[in-house]
Amino acid sequence: MGKLYKIKKSTIDKKGLYAAKDIKNGTKIIEYKGKIISVKKTEKDPKFDNDKDIYLFNINKKYDLDGDFKFNTARLINHSCEPNCEVSGTGFKIFVYAIKNIKKNDELTYDYGFGFDKDYKDYPCKCGSKKCVGFIVREESRWRIKRKK
Ligand SMILES: [Zn+2]
Repeated sequence: MGKLYKIKKSTIDKKGLYAAKDIKNGTKIIEYKGKIISVKKTEKDPKFDNDKDIYLFNINKKYDLDGDFKFNTARLINHSCEPNCEVSGTGFKIFVYAIKNIKKNDELTYDYGFGFDKDYKDYPCKCGSKKCVGFIVREESRWRIKRKK
């Protein structure tokens, strides 16, 4: 079958992941690899001391998955205001799934899920989609930005 993705230069960020072939909606594309750490530890560790945990995913009440490692290829996936993937967990594993049919050579993206707060302007979005609000903010909070215009 071969890999469904390839690493390429991106217009959103330095690098991104791209579809190496046509991918059907619902397809499991890549595992989001990382190390399982306890929530207690992430709460104490200054490394995670901000609200913008790009690489940190919550597994359950006790554990998080820290994906901030070179071996985690999926961390190269960029944010988009109109994403074609989502990250979803089963047990202690997390995978990136297609949420629409993706054409070969399209960049893979998901919603980073950043909340809306006063420093949202520190995280500009260059996804280039028609729905782009200019900043990396999760879908449910984007109306706040639109209203400000
Ligand atoms: Zn955008």
